[in-house]
Amino acid sequence: MSLYDSTVFAQGRFMPYDQARVGLLTHGLNYGTGCFEGIRGYWNPDDRELNLLLLREHFERLHTSARILLMHLPHDVEELVSLTVELCARNRFEENVYIRPLIYKNAEDVGVRLAGVDDAFAIVAIPFSAYYDGGSGLKTCVSSWRRIDDTMAPARAKITGAYINSALAKSEAQMNGFDEAIMLSHDGHVAEGSAANLFMVKNGTLFTPDPTQNVLEGITRRAVLTLAKDDLGLDVVERTLDRSELYAAEEVFFTGTAAGVIFVASVDHRPIGDGRIGPVTRALRELYDRITAGCEPKYRSWLTPTYAGRRVTA
Ligand code: PMP
Repeated sequence: MSLYDSTVFAQGRFMPYDQARVGLLTHGLNYGTGCFEGIRGYWNPDDRELNLLLLREHFERLHTSARILLMHLPHDVEELVSLTVELCARNRFEENVYIRPLIYKNAEDVGVRLAGVDDAFAIVAIPFSAYYDGGSGLKTCVSSWRRIDDTMAPARAKITGAYINSALAKSEAQMNGFDEAIMLSHDGHVAEGSAANLFMVKNGTLFTPDPTQNVLEGITRRAVLTLAKDDLGLDVVERTLDRSELYAAEEVFFTGTAAGVIFVASVDHRPIGDGRIGPVTRALRELYDRITAGCEPKYRSWLTPTYAGRRVTA
Protein backbone atom coordinates (compact mmCIF):
# COMPACT_ATOMS: atom_id res chain seq x y z
CA MET A 1 0.00 0.00 0.00
CA SER A 2 1.40 3.40 -0.92
CA LEU A 3 1.27 6.33 1.47
CA TYR A 4 -1.30 7.98 -0.78
CA ASP A 5 -3.64 4.99 -0.52
CA SER A 6 -3.34 4.77 3.25
CA THR A 7 -6.03 5.91 5.66
CA VAL A 8 -5.41 8.85 7.98
CA PHE A 9 -7.46 10.58 10.64
CA ALA A 10 -8.01 14.25 9.80
CA GLN A 11 -10.79 16.82 10.11
CA GLY A 12 -12.48 14.58 12.65
CA ARG A 13 -12.85 11.52 10.42
CA PHE A 14 -10.96 8.77 8.64
CA MET A 15 -10.04 9.56 5.04
CA PRO A 16 -7.43 8.70 2.39
CA TYR A 17 -4.07 10.41 2.92
CA ASP A 18 -4.46 12.06 -0.46
CA GLN A 19 -7.60 13.93 0.58
CA ALA A 20 -6.13 15.39 3.77
CA ARG A 21 -4.52 18.55 2.44
CA VAL A 22 -3.12 21.72 3.97
CA GLY A 23 -3.02 25.10 2.25
CA LEU A 24 0.22 26.87 1.46
CA LEU A 25 -0.41 29.68 3.94
CA THR A 26 -1.21 27.34 6.84
CA HIS A 27 0.09 28.88 10.05
CA GLY A 28 1.77 25.68 11.25
CA LEU A 29 3.63 25.28 7.96
CA ASN A 30 4.87 28.88 7.89
CA TYR A 31 5.63 29.45 11.57
CA GLY A 32 6.22 25.96 12.97
CA THR A 33 3.24 26.33 15.30
CA GLY A 34 2.43 22.70 15.84
CA CYS A 35 3.23 19.86 18.15
CA PHE A 36 3.36 16.17 17.51
CA GLU A 37 4.25 12.71 18.74
CA GLY A 38 6.16 9.79 17.34
CA ILE A 39 4.78 6.43 18.42
CA ARG A 40 5.81 2.97 17.39
CA GLY A 41 3.88 -0.18 16.75
CA TYR A 42 5.63 -3.54 16.73
CA TRP A 43 4.30 -6.39 14.63
CA ASN A 44 4.30 -9.75 16.39
CA PRO A 45 4.11 -12.42 13.66
CA ASP A 46 3.38 -15.28 16.08
CA ASP A 47 0.32 -13.58 17.55
CA ARG A 48 -0.46 -11.75 14.29
CA GLU A 49 -0.77 -8.67 16.44
CA LEU A 50 0.40 -5.07 16.12
CA ASN A 51 1.36 -3.83 19.58
CA LEU A 52 1.47 -0.07 20.09
CA LEU A 53 4.09 0.99 22.63
CA LEU A 54 3.33 3.32 25.54
CA LEU A 55 0.41 4.91 23.73
CA ARG A 56 -1.11 6.69 26.73
CA GLU A 57 2.23 8.19 27.73
CA HIS A 58 2.66 9.67 24.25
CA PHE A 59 -0.80 11.17 24.27
CA GLU A 60 -0.29 12.61 27.74
CA ARG A 61 2.84 14.32 26.45
CA LEU A 62 0.92 15.56 23.41
CA HIS A 63 -1.65 17.12 25.73
CA THR A 64 1.17 18.81 27.66
CA SER A 65 2.80 20.11 24.47
CA ALA A 66 -0.56 21.39 23.24
CA ARG A 67 -1.23 23.21 26.52
CA ILE A 68 2.16 24.92 26.30
CA LEU A 69 1.34 26.11 22.76
CA LEU A 70 -2.16 27.32 23.73
CA MET A 71 -3.75 24.58 21.66
CA HIS A 72 -6.67 22.39 22.52
CA LEU A 73 -6.75 18.74 21.56
CA PRO A 74 -10.28 17.73 20.57
CA HIS A 75 -9.90 14.31 22.26
CA ASP A 76 -8.87 13.07 25.68
CA VAL A 77 -6.16 10.44 26.09
CA GLU A 78 -8.52 7.45 25.98
CA GLU A 79 -10.19 8.73 22.80
CA LEU A 80 -6.80 9.26 21.20
CA VAL A 81 -5.82 5.70 22.10
CA SER A 82 -9.01 4.33 20.48
CA LEU A 83 -8.61 6.46 17.36
CA THR A 84 -5.03 5.29 16.92
CA VAL A 85 -5.92 1.65 17.33
CA GLU A 86 -8.74 2.06 14.82
CA LEU A 87 -6.46 3.87 12.37
CA CYS A 88 -3.92 1.02 12.48
CA ALA A 89 -6.66 -1.59 12.13
CA ARG A 90 -8.20 0.23 9.15
CA ASN A 91 -4.79 0.21 7.46
CA ARG A 92 -4.55 -3.54 8.16
CA PHE A 93 -0.87 -3.16 9.02
CA GLU A 94 1.05 -6.41 9.38
CA GLU A 95 4.49 -4.89 9.95
CA ASN A 96 6.21 -2.42 12.26
CA VAL A 97 4.71 1.05 12.08
CA TYR A 98 5.39 4.63 13.08
CA ILE A 99 2.44 6.78 14.10
CA ARG A 100 2.51 10.55 13.86
CA PRO A 101 -0.27 12.48 15.67
CA LEU A 102 -0.04 16.19 14.88
CA ILE A 103 -1.89 19.24 16.11
CA TYR A 104 -1.14 22.50 14.34
CA LYS A 105 -2.44 26.02 13.92
CA ASN A 106 -4.38 25.91 10.70
CA ALA A 107 -5.35 29.53 9.99
CA GLU A 108 -4.35 30.49 6.46
CA ASP A 109 -3.33 34.06 7.07
CA VAL A 110 -0.29 36.15 7.92
CA GLY A 111 0.56 37.09 11.50
CA VAL A 112 2.65 35.15 13.98
CA ARG A 113 0.94 34.54 17.31
CA LEU A 114 -0.60 31.64 19.23
CA ALA A 115 -3.73 32.89 20.97
CA GLY A 116 -6.96 32.91 19.02
CA VAL A 117 -5.71 30.86 16.05
CA ASP A 118 -7.70 27.69 15.25
CA ASP A 119 -6.11 24.26 15.53
CA ALA A 120 -6.38 21.16 13.38
CA PHE A 121 -5.57 17.64 14.47
CA ALA A 122 -4.49 14.62 12.43
CA ILE A 123 -2.95 11.18 12.85
CA VAL A 124 -0.91 9.48 10.15
CA ALA A 125 0.59 6.00 10.40
CA ILE A 126 3.22 4.50 8.11
CA PRO A 127 5.21 1.28 7.87
CA PHE A 128 8.56 1.75 9.57
CA SER A 129 11.74 -0.22 10.04
CA ALA A 130 15.02 0.78 11.66
CA TYR A 131 15.88 4.43 12.28
CA TYR A 132 19.62 3.78 12.59
CA ASP A 133 21.78 1.08 11.16
CA GLY A 134 23.30 0.74 14.60
CA GLY A 135 25.00 -2.65 14.58
CA SER A 136 28.45 -1.14 14.97
CA GLY A 137 27.34 1.76 17.17
CA LEU A 138 27.06 5.44 16.37
CA LYS A 139 29.94 7.76 15.63
CA THR A 140 28.94 10.99 17.29
CA CYS A 141 30.27 14.51 17.66
CA VAL A 142 29.40 17.38 19.94
CA SER A 143 27.47 19.80 17.79
CA SER A 144 28.34 23.43 17.27
CA TRP A 145 24.57 23.98 17.54
CA ARG A 146 23.34 24.30 21.12
CA ARG A 147 20.07 22.72 22.23
CA ILE A 148 17.23 25.25 22.38
CA ASP A 149 16.88 26.76 25.80
CA ASP A 150 13.59 26.91 27.68
CA THR A 151 13.91 30.70 27.73
CA MET A 152 13.73 30.66 23.91
CA ALA A 153 11.33 27.83 23.06
CA PRO A 154 9.95 25.13 25.35
CA ALA A 155 12.39 22.24 25.04
CA ARG A 156 10.17 19.80 26.95
CA ALA A 157 7.35 20.14 24.43
CA LYS A 158 7.57 18.34 21.11
CA ILE A 159 7.11 21.36 18.88
CA THR A 160 7.33 21.15 15.10
CA GLY A 161 9.21 24.44 14.62
CA ALA A 162 11.77 23.55 17.27
CA TYR A 163 13.00 20.67 15.09
CA ILE A 164 15.05 23.09 13.03
CA ASN A 165 17.43 22.85 16.00
CA SER A 166 17.65 19.05 15.62
CA ALA A 167 17.87 19.23 11.83
CA LEU A 168 20.79 21.68 11.89
CA ALA A 169 22.69 19.57 14.42
CA LYS A 170 22.06 16.26 12.65
CA SER A 171 22.96 17.64 9.22
CA GLU A 172 26.15 19.20 10.49
CA ALA A 173 27.15 15.88 12.09
CA GLN A 174 26.37 13.85 8.97
CA MET A 175 28.08 16.31 6.63
CA ASN A 176 31.17 15.97 8.81
CA GLY A 177 31.09 12.17 8.55
CA PHE A 178 29.41 11.35 11.87
CA ASP A 179 26.16 9.45 12.40
CA GLU A 180 24.64 11.62 15.08
CA ALA A 181 25.09 14.87 17.00
CA ILE A 182 25.21 15.46 20.73
CA MET A 183 23.88 18.89 21.60
CA LEU A 184 25.02 20.85 24.63
CA SER A 185 22.75 23.21 26.49
CA HIS A 186 23.31 26.99 26.25
CA ASP A 187 25.59 26.78 29.31
CA GLY A 188 27.66 23.93 27.93
CA HIS A 189 26.23 20.86 29.64
CA VAL A 190 25.25 17.72 27.81
CA ALA A 191 21.65 17.82 26.62
CA GLU A 192 20.75 15.14 24.08
CA GLY A 193 20.97 13.86 20.52
CA SER A 194 19.03 15.32 17.60
CA ALA A 195 16.02 13.08 18.30
CA ALA A 196 17.04 10.92 21.23
CA ASN A 197 17.93 11.22 24.91
CA LEU A 198 21.44 10.44 26.10
CA PHE A 199 22.66 8.16 28.89
CA MET A 200 26.13 7.30 30.12
CA VAL A 201 27.50 4.63 32.45
CA LYS A 202 30.37 5.24 34.84
CA ASN A 203 31.45 2.91 37.65
CA GLY A 204 28.25 0.93 37.29
CA THR A 205 25.98 3.97 37.75
CA LEU A 206 23.66 5.16 35.01
CA PHE A 207 23.57 8.92 34.41
CA THR A 208 21.30 11.04 32.25
CA PRO A 209 20.71 14.81 32.11
CA ASP A 210 17.85 15.84 34.38
CA PRO A 211 14.70 17.37 32.85
CA THR A 212 15.87 20.95 33.53
CA GLN A 213 18.72 20.49 31.01
CA ASN A 214 16.45 21.42 28.08
CA VAL A 215 15.92 17.82 27.07
CA LEU A 216 12.72 16.49 25.63
CA GLU A 217 11.35 14.34 28.41
CA GLY A 218 11.48 11.17 26.39
CA ILE A 219 9.00 8.36 26.84
CA THR A 220 11.79 5.86 26.17
CA ARG A 221 14.04 7.73 28.60
CA ARG A 222 11.47 7.26 31.35
CA ALA A 223 10.98 3.60 30.40
CA VAL A 224 14.72 2.92 30.44
CA LEU A 225 15.11 4.62 33.83
CA THR A 226 12.45 2.26 35.16
CA LEU A 227 14.08 -0.83 33.65
CA ALA A 228 17.54 0.19 34.90
CA LYS A 229 16.29 0.64 38.46
CA ASP A 230 13.71 -2.13 38.75
CA ASP A 231 15.14 -4.89 36.58
CA LEU A 232 18.88 -4.27 36.43
CA GLY A 233 19.12 -2.90 39.99
CA LEU A 234 21.34 -0.04 38.84
CA ASP A 235 21.90 3.24 40.63
CA VAL A 236 20.40 5.93 38.45
CA VAL A 237 21.34 9.59 38.65
CA GLU A 238 19.68 12.48 36.81
CA ARG A 239 22.01 15.51 36.89
CA THR A 240 23.97 17.92 34.73
CA LEU A 241 26.70 16.16 32.76
CA ASP A 242 29.87 17.70 31.38
CA ARG A 243 31.11 17.03 27.87
CA SER A 244 34.36 15.51 29.12
CA GLU A 245 32.43 13.07 31.30
CA LEU A 246 31.30 11.50 28.04
CA TYR A 247 34.90 11.03 26.92
CA ALA A 248 35.62 9.29 30.25
CA ALA A 249 32.45 7.17 30.27
CA GLU A 250 32.41 3.38 30.12
CA GLU A 251 29.27 3.38 27.99
CA VAL A 252 27.15 6.00 26.22
CA PHE A 253 23.84 5.29 24.54
CA PHE A 254 20.78 7.03 23.14
CA THR A 255 17.13 6.25 23.71
CA GLY A 256 14.12 7.22 21.67
CA THR A 257 10.94 5.89 20.17
CA ALA A 258 12.48 5.67 16.72
CA ALA A 259 16.00 4.83 17.89
CA GLY A 260 15.15 2.32 20.63
CA VAL A 261 18.26 1.78 22.76
CA ILE A 262 21.33 2.36 20.61
CA PHE A 263 24.95 2.46 21.67
CA VAL A 264 27.43 5.22 20.94
CA ALA A 265 30.77 3.88 19.73
CA SER A 266 32.63 7.18 19.83
CA VAL A 267 32.27 10.83 20.82
CA ASP A 268 34.45 13.37 19.01
CA HIS A 269 36.66 10.53 17.68
CA ARG A 270 37.25 9.14 21.18
CA PRO A 271 36.12 5.52 21.46
CA ILE A 272 33.72 4.90 24.35
CA GLY A 273 35.02 1.93 26.31
CA ASP A 274 36.47 -0.42 23.71
CA GLY A 275 34.13 0.97 21.05
CA ARG A 276 31.75 -1.96 21.33
CA ILE A 277 28.39 -2.23 23.02
CA GLY A 278 28.82 -2.35 26.80
CA PRO A 279 27.08 -4.70 29.24
CA VAL A 280 24.56 -2.19 30.62
CA THR A 281 23.53 -0.97 27.18
CA ARG A 282 23.27 -4.53 25.95
CA ALA A 283 21.12 -5.64 28.90
CA LEU A 284 18.80 -2.64 28.51
CA ARG A 285 18.53 -3.07 24.77
CA GLU A 286 17.74 -6.76 25.05
CA LEU A 287 15.11 -6.14 27.70
CA TYR A 288 13.58 -3.30 25.68
CA ASP A 289 13.51 -5.50 22.56
CA ARG A 290 11.82 -8.31 24.47
CA ILE A 291 9.23 -5.88 25.80
CA THR A 292 8.43 -4.49 22.36
CA ALA A 293 8.26 -8.03 20.98
CA GLY A 294 5.60 -8.77 23.62
CA CYS A 295 7.78 -11.33 25.40
CA GLU A 296 7.91 -9.75 28.87
CA PRO A 297 4.68 -10.44 30.78
CA LYS A 298 5.67 -7.92 33.46
CA TYR A 299 5.59 -5.11 30.88
CA ARG A 300 2.67 -6.33 28.79
CA SER A 301 0.73 -3.28 30.00
CA TRP A 302 3.11 -1.06 28.01
CA LEU A 303 1.59 -2.49 24.81
CA THR A 304 -1.82 -1.76 23.34
CA PRO A 305 -2.92 -4.46 20.87
CA THR A 306 -4.49 -3.34 17.59
CA TYR A 307 -6.32 -6.44 16.49
CA ALA A 308 -7.11 -8.37 19.68
CA GLY A 309 -10.70 -9.44 19.27
CA ARG A 310 -11.33 -7.29 16.22
CA ARG A 311 -10.69 -7.34 12.51
CA VAL A 312 -12.02 -4.50 10.42
CA THR A 313 -13.88 -5.81 7.41
CA ALA A 314 -14.96 -2.58 5.75
N1 PMP B 1 14.71 14.22 22.20
C1 PMP B 1 14.21 14.67 21.03
C2 PMP B 1 14.58 16.03 20.56
C3 PMP B 1 13.35 13.86 20.29
O1 PMP B 1 12.87 14.29 19.11
C4 PMP B 1 13.03 12.57 20.75
C5 PMP B 1 12.11 11.69 19.96
N2 PMP B 1 10.77 11.94 20.26
C6 PMP B 1 13.57 12.15 21.98
C7 PMP B 1 14.41 13.00 22.67
C8 PMP B 1 13.22 10.82 22.55
O2 PMP B 1 11.90 10.85 23.04
P1 PMP B 1 10.96 9.57 23.02
O3 PMP B 1 11.65 8.54 23.80
O4 PMP B 1 9.71 10.05 23.65
O5 PMP B 1 10.78 9.18 21.60
